[in-house]
Amino acid sequence: MSQILIVGSGLFGAVFAHEAAEAGNKVTVIEKRNHIAGNIYTKEVDGIQVHEYGAHIFHTSNKKVWDYVHRFAEFNRYTNSPVANYKGQMYNLPFNMNTFNEMWGVKTPQEALAKINEQRQEMAGKEPRNLEEQAISLIGRDIYEKLIKGYTEKQWGRPCTELPAFIIKRLPVRLIYDNNYFNDDYQGIPIGGYTKMVEKMLDHPNITVKLNTDFFDNKEEYLKSYDKVVYTGMIDKFFDYKLGELEYRSLRFETEEKNVGNYQGNAVINYTDAETPYTRVIEHKYFEFGKGDKDKTIITREYPADWHRGDEPYYPVNNDCNNQLYAKYAELAKKQDKVIFGGRLGQYKYYNMDQVIEAALNAVHNEFGD
Ligand code: FAD
Ligand code: UDP
Repeated sequence: MSQILIVGSGLFGAVFAHEAAEAGNKVTVIEKRNHIAGNIYTKEVDGIQVHEYGAHIFHTSNKKVWDYVHRFAEFNRYTNSPVANYKGQMYNLPFNMNTFNEMWGVKTPQEALAKINEQRQEMAGKEPRNLEEQAISLIGRDIYEKLIKGYTEKQWGRPCTELPAFIIKRLPVRLIYDNNYFNDDYQGIPIGGYTKMVEKMLDHPNITVKLNTDFFDNKEEYLKSYDKVVYTGMIDKFFDYKLGELEYRSLRFETEEKNVGNYQGNAVINYTDAETPYTRVIEHKYFEFGKGDKDKTIITREYPADWHRGDEPYYPVNNDCNNQLYAKYAELAKKQDKVIFGGRLGQYKYYNMDQVIEAALNAVHNEFGD
């Protein structure tokens, strides 16, 4: 039996803690915030599960991961179908026949394809070198200008010509009338919220959780006194930024209770122009079904922000320069044989929840076998 310290009670930390405890180890989870669950934390307010750190929709094509989360929660059948507001004009997302009809008036897949191909001509024969070129070669300039450029430049705080193409490859393009944002086989939101799901992962006689506890207040002591440390914080901070700072994007959330039953008619509305300072507004009650007061609703505006030391690092910025620096930190990490670096910040990867669970289960497998 080993003594294991887990730094961070987000999804990576919670899955690892649960499996390590099941394998018979004594596990201590330390968390610097005053609550568990990391960025998937949800808090119940007036009968509504509020996604405190932005909209979280679970989606995956990995059956093993889908089965795994069902051990800790039941999921509803929520299907994400955000709508874009560009200067007061509404467009369905992701890019599908509804969007093409709204943008160009085309009605059939043949008409839509002809229009897209005409728009893509601009990039004919050229290899896309950045997000702007990737977007235009994928879908053409009209959609790029109205639905991608403003949103993306706000989100990442830099021109699309300086962003990696892969970010936009996440968005599906479909020649059918289907507003489902994701292509995955499985999708939903845990009934009762994500916090309850993580609580269940951590509810084990071998697990102790300590909130309001920062690893860096006692780093050397922790590294000395535990057999293994699973670290899910920022990898550059672990090494005291000695090779330089990685870049992150931060966010500011502005939450308001409104005395109306229905504020925007959808869970997620994206503001895709450059002028509106926020990227999206979420109306939490629509992540669930028939929840909350019929005369009240809770909304959150999401403002992208530059990251400075001390801010919450919500997104890694995976461009070439940062990835090269990360690779050097990863080399240092390999030499720390007591420490496993995991999760979005520990591995500096733009992971979704399902990928974090898969990575945590792989780390568990490497450590304890089956
Ligand atoms: P985190 O959740 O960040 O957990 C790390 C934990 O470690 C935190 O609780 C932190 O406080 C703690 N910690 C850090 N440093 C220390 C320290 N020094 N001492 C003690 N504790 C420390 N994914 C999806 O699949 N679907 C979505 O719809 C989706 N939407 C998202 C929307 C937003 C706005 C964001 C930011 C992310 C979204 N994600 C989504 C991604 C998802 O949030 C992550 O994949 C997942 O939460 C990462 O889990 P993690 O354990 O790696 O990190
Ligand atoms: N995006 C966009 N317009 C939108 C929504 C998304 O251009 O209305 C782009 C943007 O660059 C964003 C990327 O698509 O960073 C991925 O979007 P997603 O909704 O998957 O981002 P996340 O939920 O991770 O912030």
